[in-house]
Amino acid sequence: MIIVLKPYSHDDDVEDVKQHCIKLGYDPRIIRGVERTVIACVGDELTHRSLEALKAMPVIENVLPIQKRHKLASREFRRQDSVVKMGAFPIGAGHFQVIAGPCAVESREQIYQATGDLLKAGIHVIRAGTFKPRTSPYDFQGLGDEGLDLLAAVKEEFGVAIITEVVGIGQVEHAARTVDVLQIGARNCQNYNLLETVAGAGKPVLLKRGMATTVEEWLSAAEYLLVHGCEDVILCERGIRTFETATRNTLDISAVAVAKQETHLPVVVDPSHAAGVQSLVEPLAKAAIAVGADGPLIEAHPNPVDALSDAQQQLPSGDFGELMKKLRPYIELAGKTMP
Ligand code: PEP
Ligand code: MN
Repeated sequence: MIIVLKPYSHDDDVEDVKQHCIKLGYDPRIIRGVERTVIACVGDELTHRSLEALKAMPVIENVLPIQKRHKLASREFRRQDSVVKMGAFPIGAGHFQVIAGPCAVESREQIYQATGDLLKAGIHVIRAGTFKPRTSPYDFQGLGDEGLDLLAAVKEEFGVAIITEVVGIGQVEHAARTVDVLQIGARNCQNYNLLETVAGAGKPVLLKRGMATTVEEWLSAAEYLLVHGCEDVILCERGIRTFETATRNTLDISAVAVAKQETHLPVVVDPSHAAGVQSLVEPLAKAAIAVGADGPLIEAHPNPVDALSDAQQQLPSGDFGELMKKLRPYIELAGKTMP
């Protein structure tokens, strides 16, 4: 960390700051300029307490961290793209996957029909929620454990990989025993207890960006997973809250490019929750592929008008053969391969 002192600071004050740095475990090197003194503090910023607290000292103008707070997620830690296996299906480092499925598991017929349609279109990773984080307590909350049993049956019957969301610590063990990837939804991106528990469950984690988290906060949430033992993290941009009302959320396409640049983790994009309407899903999915995403995550229902949640944004699962034809040239152009 670099500490910048106010102009013409006194030797006694410089010494005082230096002693504080030593007390916090750093090795301070003093650099005296004509007007200002700067103290370069050598020491691992991740294992030592942050010196930013010293900003409270009147003599200090600024404290500048040098190391990123998301070290394990960063490209400095691992230069090459990481590959995460969702069941048998890899994503990252050139492996592209279209992930799709209904917002919620609603019945045996519904999830079987959706999975059959998607598999026919060449999609092998099914995402469906059974613990739904609904804004209103009066809305359909998901089938809970019964939905997990249906997902287990789908996995067995169709040989697909399954992603499902957990919204509470109590659901993690059963979900981890049943599915291939655990999802942390937007509302729980900064629920650090849940992140720690999920990280210890032994399954890859798909981490959605919170609707009001900065990229830095999102990557720090990923760091929680990595530091607590989960090696397989997939990032998911799903749109953020802005002043714009034309779409449900604003898809932050730049965040995808930043996440790809800064981290080695696979990044997927959820155009369904970003757009909030069917008609925008395809163009946003194409934009996601063009900007470097490793796959889109798209909501699909056999009969969207009958859906118990997010009806207006789910695409008919029977239309995915056509959609895949439209996405394939973009995937090819991006230099990625899909099974
Ligand atoms: C979902 O994935 O169905 C969901 C609730 O999305 P988000 O967490 O992005 O709002
Ligand atoms: Mn949904």
